[in-house]
Amino acid sequence: MRQVTPSITSGPLLLPDHLLKNTDGQFIQKLFNSLRCAVLYLDQWGRICSANIMAKELFRQHDLLGKTALEFLSSWDDTINCHQEVLMVARTGTSIIGAIERAVIHGQEHWFQVDKVAVRDDEHDINGVLITLDDITVLKAQKLSLQQSEARYKAFVENSQDAIWRFDICPPIPIDRPNKNIIETILERAILGDCNHVFANVCGVQQPKKLLGSKLSELGVGSYAMDTKTFVENNFCLSNQEITWNNETNKSIYLQMSANGTVENNQLIEIWGVTRDTTERRRYIDRLEYQANHDSLTGLPNRNKLKDIANDLIASKRQHESIALIIVDLDGFKEINDTLGHHVGDHIIREVGPRIQSSLDKSDSTICRLGGDEFAILLPDIKNDKNARSIAEKILAGIRRDFCINGINIELRASFGIALFPEQASDFSTLMRYADVAMYTAKKEVSAIEVYNPETDQHSTKRLSLMSDLGKAIRSNQLTLYYQPKISLETNEVVGVEALSRWIHPSMGFISPAEFIPIAEMTDMINEITEWVLKESLCQIRKWQEKSLFIKVAVNISSRNLLNDNIVQKIEWLLHHYSLSPACLELEITESTIMNNAEHSLKILQEINNLGIDLSIDDFGTGYSSLAYLKKLPVKWLKIDYAFIVNMLEDEQDQIIVNSTINMAHNLGLNVVAEGVENQDVLDRLKSMQCEQAQGYHISRPIPAKDLEEWYANYTENINCNRIS
Ligand code: C2E
Ligand code: CA
Ligand code: CA
Repeated sequence: MRQVTPSITSGPLLLPDHLLKNTDGQFIQKLFNSLRCAVLYLDQWGRICSANIMAKELFRQHDLLGKTALEFLSSWDDTINCHQEVLMVARTGTSIIGAIERAVIHGQEHWFQVDKVAVRDDEHDINGVLITLDDITVLKAQKLSLQQSEARYKAFVENSQDAIWRFDICPPIPIDRPNKNIIETILERAILGDCNHVFANVCGVQQPKKLLGSKLSELGVGSYAMDTKTFVENNFCLSNQEITWNNETNKSIYLQMSANGTVENNQLIEIWGVTRDTTERRRYIDRLEYQANHDSLTGLPNRNKLKDIANDLIASKRQHESIALIIVDLDGFKEINDTLGHHVGDHIIREVGPRIQSSLDKSDSTICRLGGDEFAILLPDIKNDKNARSIAEKILAGIRRDFCINGINIELRASFGIALFPEQASDFSTLMRYADVAMYTAKKEVSAIEVYNPETDQHSTKRLSLMSDLGKAIRSNQLTLYYQPKISLETNEVVGVEALSRWIHPSMGFISPAEFIPIAEMTDMINEITEWVLKESLCQIRKWQEKSLFIKVAVNISSRNLLNDNIVQKIEWLLHHYSLSPACLELEITESTIMNNAEHSLKILQEINNLGIDLSIDDFGTGYSSLAYLKKLPVKWLKIDYAFIVNMLEDEQDQIIVNSTINMAHNLGLNVVAEGVENQDVLDRLKSMQCEQAQGYHISRPIPAKDLEEWYANYTENINCNRIS
């Protein structure tokens, strides 16, 4: 192999004749011997006339003289060509300088830089050829390994998935200056010296070449000024620095950067770095985070996210302003789901968020779905509870707008609970609990919107302890039944009594059923209570009958009891056990609760009715069952809620409702009972409205069985006297 660097020709070497021909040649020989390279002098026929020590050592021959060029070039890669070159130099006098040639001499590879110089005498005649062989084998190997390592580096840089770059600092910056000055100077002087395709692509350019020479400040990759500061302060080093950057299409990309400064002679000369595009990984993490913080059906933030936002708000709250949390729970959503299907339910749930949003003037509020049909709205910058309430009213109006689904108009109702920070709660979990308590109060009171009230809350803590005591209460005879009579408005006779539970708690004393029944209704405990009431009532009827008192008893049934298929058999068994006719029992079911599970309830009610037991709809007017549905129910009685009766004479609206309810019931073939009759005037008015029966404090308060016997005796005696008189 013969490598020739650009063949440089130069003029011939002129040596004076006396040096070439006489004894001064010894001096030249000495000079040649002191050289590091092998030197051979050939005459114009190509025969060696002189060789220095290096040449003799190289060829391991002490007697080189007289050998031809062809002989010693025989170990050369391209012997013929080299030999011809020697002859050509000898003939033409044109020297060849700097050729790179390879030879294998005594089995060892050598690389030489070869000069073939024509030597002329005083007459300018060509005298011979001076050949110098500079052994560059070691240098060549070093160069090769450098080339290979450069090629490897290039391949690594080019194929890297990461952006690799180098900024040159021209001129270099002395690092003993103050940091501020170094930072400013880097920003002025750092110029892109090298980069790969990935870096170019990050900067929105196809070819790296187009970027080379750009200033760091012009490229503006990420927050370069900030990063430069960190780089300098961190002793010219950056390790996995996170950068967010908006690219030219204004999309956020996430980068992770590491960089190292090269310092030579106390001067920063260049900065090397690797930038990794972590956008994909970040997006993935963001997606996971999003899923953990959002509800999949609506895309609204969930409870987790609400907590974070609320805690941030609480931490940064300005004085004189409050934060309000509103919890919204849809009313009757279960019925919509059960009757119209889950897809309709889902559709409605998805609609709620946008409806709430459009009712809010402020954009800084947070709407989230807590689960099921429960939502929460977090409002910062609230002046007071009135302010929060008026916002809740707007939201309610938005939610109540009819939904039109498959041609059916559905009006949605909701209960709102409001709690305030810092006036009421001092942290997020208390705020949630208070808003929850207020929401339950709103549900119970059917008042739509309630602001948290500590008094109601006392009930709720009490509620918890009551729940645990209640089971024990049934078994340890803490419950008793009071009976409240009902009379016929036509004959004034007692037509029956309503059995009402009473709980005398060993430490808390009297607890109203309005308090403990709703708690029992939350669990299966209500089944135990109802069974107990049924057994107790029927046992009482038996005892009365044995005293020749024939009194019909009405027992209150909860909707949850109707989910229990056993209830029909239980009633049948009890009637049989006490040898009683079904005609002495009546069941009262609250209007709205029948709707909770309409189809199943209807089936059970049908079975109860088939036993021959009268059913009545309790609390009529407070729920929203349709008249059409009422027709389907096997009920005989309709009991107008006491709320309409109590102030009926003072409130014209109530009177209209009572009157039309009685008429409507009669049209449907139902009889009417009015509860909550507190005076004779109301009783008389009901009579004139053709109401069949009445119940209320005016007739008697609920009283224990023993007292009732006494009351009954007095009462019947009284009406009989009146009849006689
Ligand atoms: P309810 O079924 O509507 O019972 C009538 C309630 O009105 C009773 O309250 C009764 O004391 C009250 N009341 C009767 N006459 C008047 C009146 O003239 N004026 C006024 N202001 N109120 C009158 P009580 O006994 O506190 O019962 C409350 C509710 O608790 C009952 O309402 C019923 O829903 C429930 N409840 C009571 N006992 C039972 C039970 O054994 N089982 C079930 N499931 N519920 C029960
Ligand atoms: Ca009742
Ligand atoms: Ca009632």
